[in-house]
Amino acid sequence: MKTADLILINAVILTMDEEFHTYEPGAIAISGNSIAAIGLEADVLKDFSAPMNINCNQKVLMPGLINAHTHVPMTLLRGLADDLRLDVWLMGYMMPVEREFVSPDFVELGTRLACAEMIRSGITCFADMYYFEEHVARAAESSGVRAICGQTVLKFPSPDARSYEDSLEMARDFIKKWKGHDLIVPAVSPHAPYTCTPEILRATAALAVEYDVPLHTHLAETAFEVENMRNENGMPVIPFMKKQNLFDAKVIAAHCVHIDEGEMRTLLHSGAGVAHNPSSNMKLASGAAPVKRLIELGVKVGIGTDGPASNNDLDMFEEMRLAAFLSKLSSGDPTSLPARTTLLMGTRMGAEALHIGDITGSLQVGKRADMVILDLTPVHNSPKFQRDPSNVYAQIIYSAKASDVTDVMVNGRWLMQDKKLTTLKEDDLLFASQDYARKIDLFLIHREQSVLSKLIAIGGATEEESFEVQAKVAIPSVDVIIEAIKSNKEISITRLRHYHQFDAYMQFDDPSQGYVRYREDHFVAVSGEITNVRNRLTLIGQTREHPFKEDVLLSRSRYLAPAVQSLRFYKEYFKPQRTIEIEKDRKRYLVNYKDTEFFINIDHFNVPKLGSFLEVKSRTWSEQDAEKKAQLAEDLLKSLGASLKDAVSKDYFEMVEASIKSS
Ligand SMILES: [Zn+2]
Repeated sequence: MKTADLILINAVILTMDEEFHTYEPGAIAISGNSIAAIGLEADVLKDFSAPMNINCNQKVLMPGLINAHTHVPMTLLRGLADDLRLDVWLMGYMMPVEREFVSPDFVELGTRLACAEMIRSGITCFADMYYFEEHVARAAESSGVRAICGQTVLKFPSPDARSYEDSLEMARDFIKKWKGHDLIVPAVSPHAPYTCTPEILRATAALAVEYDVPLHTHLAETAFEVENMRNENGMPVIPFMKKQNLFDAKVIAAHCVHIDEGEMRTLLHSGAGVAHNPSSNMKLASGAAPVKRLIELGVKVGIGTDGPASNNDLDMFEEMRLAAFLSKLSSGDPTSLPARTTLLMGTRMGAEALHIGDITGSLQVGKRADMVILDLTPVHNSPKFQRDPSNVYAQIIYSAKASDVTDVMVNGRWLMQDKKLTTLKEDDLLFASQDYARKIDLFLIHREQSVLSKLIAIGGATEEESFEVQAKVAIPSVDVIIEAIKSNKEISITRLRHYHQFDAYMQFDDPSQGYVRYREDHFVAVSGEITNVRNRLTLIGQTREHPFKEDVLLSRSRYLAPAVQSLRFYKEYFKPQRTIEIEKDRKRYLVNYKDTEFFINIDHFNVPKLGSFLEVKSRTWSEQDAEKKAQLAEDLLKSLGASLKDAVSKDYFEMVEASIKSS
């Protein structure tokens, strides 16, 4: 007779091992952090005794669930911004708030809050990716939950690193410190192909290989990502990553929604694991990953909740159920992802996808004691059919809920007993997290007060302090003015540029907010070809303009930012009350007139059909100087034969508005 520390008896045991053994009534003997014996109760009790036997009262005892992809500290951002597109959500809300609030304290609190939720939903292991991952690891360790912790590496400055070199060093130190830990597996996390450079991808892959740790990343999440990758590199995402040696490492690839058969085979042959995130993919409308085909081919696919800001919970029961439903719906095949396969993805195959299948994911002798006990007697699970022993899998996937989990053990230690958490104080966590919510609310309320602060929040805006003298007149013909510029002896042309201009003016009900102009310049070469495209965003602030020298305007403060996102992004982010779109052809002369530099713009409006305009502009740094230039501007207009009685003392969008009203 051998001795164990603890024996659980009278359980319905689902082992999730290779043969899907089940034992009823089953027993499991635990010694230290591992499983010493498992089988029918009579067989286990024949060989083992323990100081304590616990009667499971015919509840289900199964492996703990593996959350294969998440960002646990984001529990503190749960419900902050929803029903947005991925880019607006990420660049407009998550990243600005993260830059302001994410700290070691934030990360530890968020992780402990997440661990409380995950333990309650039967999760015994999660694969994370975030900033200050050291503190995710500490909080997971103190909560007793097994974790693969990936330190994020990005090409942008992040809350925990000023540069990618810094974050790579952090990742190296973190891996060295935690490698070999009993609960925590350190990892490196290049965020995604589009947020990393090829150099970063290669460096992170080399680091993962050097220390033999997993590399956790996001791959092929959206069709947009794949389209950009094809345009920029002439290949889809997986071959590009292979070219950067990524698959030399033990890869955990989150999403893989938009991949083809060849890419699936690359994942298979490289031994990469895939983390499927049905809630996140549905909520952000990313698409349905080809899970059925991946599993047919033999790729290890786990299920993840993704971060609680894009899900918004950490409930693996819900996630498994949705994985099955989404696969059936997207393949048009109700036999796709049957219940037992889905539970396998949530347990043993999930652990294999995370490259820790040797220690967890199924209940087998020698593996760690990571397991949960489920009460399948509540009404939503009833009744129970005995005819087919595999009914229990369907009961778990389609009927059971996280609230049916009564007990959770990780590494031989109870984290929840009879629905009471043993390592975490939920009341304290709720109080502290509410405090963060209050601060973040204030930050966003303040930011949303002005268009300017919203512009600054997404980064890159600079104030341009200069004044501008500007006069504009309607002209009957473009050619006459061009001839006049060329033949005028007092005008010397420094340069001529030709472009098609697309402008969108975003206006707000409160005129003191000014307006935001999104401008796309298409440079047109002499040959007529478009040689370059430039996008800019300008906040034309609270207007300080006044009619100056009759029809010459003195303009106002402006903020400029490169428009790195699409017009669609800015419309959804700034939420203007109106947007007016203009398309025109512009010839822009830079000239010298009486020792003063002027721009002469000759515009022909295509949309709306407003005709042609001549505009002269000069920049100045003082109002006194502006007076002199205003006089010159008037002279210049006259010398080009333009009639000042056709002057337009309004900006384009006001003219457009007038034309819309009059038509
Ligand atoms: Zn993610």
